[in-house]
Amino acid sequence: MLKLKGGTVVDPVHGVQGEIRDVFVEHGRIVADPGPGARVHEEIDASGMIVMAGAIDLHTHIGGGKVNIARAMLPEDHRGDLADRTALTRSGCGHAAPSTLTTGYRYAEMGYTACFEPAMLPINARQAHMEMGDTPIVDKGAYAMLGSDDFLLRMLAAKKDQRAINDYVAWTITHAQAIGLKVVNPGGISAFKFNQRMLDVDEQHVYYGVTPRQILKALAQAVHDIGVPHPLHVHGCNLGVPGNVDTTLTTIDAVEGLPMHLTHIQFHSYGTEGDRKFSSGAARIAEAINAHPNISADVGQILFGQTVTASGDNMAQFRNAGAGSPKKSVVMDIECDAGCGVVPFKYSDKNFVNALQWAIGLEIFLLVGDPWRIFLTTDHPNGAPFTAYPDLFALLMDRELRARQIAALPPDAMAVTTLPSITREYTLTEIAMMTRAAPARLLGLTDRGHLGPGAVADVAVYADERDRAKMFRAADLVFKDGELVVRAGAITQYRWGRALNVRPERDRAIDRRMTRYYEDRFGLSDAFLKVPEHAIGRPQPFGLVPCAR
Ligand SMILES: [Zn+2]
Repeated sequence: MLKLKGGTVVDPVHGVQGEIRDVFVEHGRIVADPGPGARVHEEIDASGMIVMAGAIDLHTHIGGGKVNIARAMLPEDHRGDLADRTALTRSGCGHAAPSTLTTGYRYAEMGYTACFEPAMLPINARQAHMEMGDTPIVDKGAYAMLGSDDFLLRMLAAKKDQRAINDYVAWTITHAQAIGLKVVNPGGISAFKFNQRMLDVDEQHVYYGVTPRQILKALAQAVHDIGVPHPLHVHGCNLGVPGNVDTTLTTIDAVEGLPMHLTHIQFHSYGTEGDRKFSSGAARIAEAINAHPNISADVGQILFGQTVTASGDNMAQFRNAGAGSPKKSVVMDIECDAGCGVVPFKYSDKNFVNALQWAIGLEIFLLVGDPWRIFLTTDHPNGAPFTAYPDLFALLMDRELRARQIAALPPDAMAVTTLPSITREYTLTEIAMMTRAAPARLLGLTDRGHLGPGAVADVAVYADERDRAKMFRAADLVFKDGELVVRAGAITQYRWGRALNVRPERDRAIDRRMTRYYEDRFGLSDAFLKVPEHAIGRPQPFGLVPCAR
């Protein structure tokens, strides 16, 4: 048994808000205090340290086709030192689109122990899983992406009943080995292929005659009916379009009270006020989230600097392609199923729109009252690489730091946001809710996100620094399944995580229909969509593989 002695424990699931406690670990799980006389094989002193469960990222693009396109497009991203333009380019590193190895290492160093890829195409699921399986230390899961696929749009056009849609969703999640369901620009990715360049919630797809509202309602209902814990994960219509705050509010209404998670909501919270016809809709969005307990959201905060945007939303990426920096882009269709766009991007603190996007994200964090329903993401790598999270923790926890950064940004942008007047500071308990307890609960992972007996022994221990960015950048100790993997911010042990998934029930009649569909449409066996068990796990290695920054 391992005893982590005398740390300051922050565990909101059990109402523990910074109490000095011991944490006991045995066989990869947290166990209750065994009392005096128990055999403790190892004791680690955590006094003066903050002890939390391992952090969970519920929306980060770490696997699948678009990530590999981004890596291939950006050789300059794969230099050992990004600031040094003469540094050698080489594989196995990366910043905005890091390698699998780098991704696992950087997450673990910050105290993250589970990450969820939000846009796994069923048709690419095997590749996405193998890539995530190659990401060390952290556990992984993925949301299967539907909503612009020919099979669903045909069913909706033919007014098939909800049970048929439920069976199709269950079939997809099961064979893709997914843990949830995602929809991206509902119907819009398909509409783009039919030359539509916009598709609002109540607009019809020109070919199928189906609206995004119908798709959202049917999929949210399906996820609910088949008992998948994570609500439908929604990247809404009109991403990045000024005025899309109204689209987002309509989207909230469209699911009629069903559970729904709105992702990277910052990109969906724009008004059209002011001389530049671009303003913050954050207050209206936060008000709507506060008023709808069925809605949760992650922010998709932008932070200034170089990154790459990678999305299934070909419609939005086609609009963005001209703004690529450096000037390159890929926008592609994926036959019958979806689309994809990759555009490198540099957010500038001199730019009015970028500065306002930064403020809008922070406004949403600070105006949504319930830390159980708002989540810390940058939509990695779309708003910023996940390695920038520590800077974001610091901004949320320190209003003086925010004020200093606001003072350096374009005054005309700061004049059209309420951010300068917001004084709220997140507490460590709220940070632990937002990054541990709440994502575990929203994903249905009852043995994670807390430090109670029976929980997976994923534990992060931080020095209690005044500089919160420094504190969260390099955890002092990280345990994965009870094994020490990080000491003083550096990886000490290399191991594989595992894939987490759900297996909803379905009427097996759907299996025959899917076999027929793939034979008729693709001339292929549907076996290629079925991710086998051996593709989602890896045997444990021993030792340490070095990984340079
Ligand atoms: Zn995303």
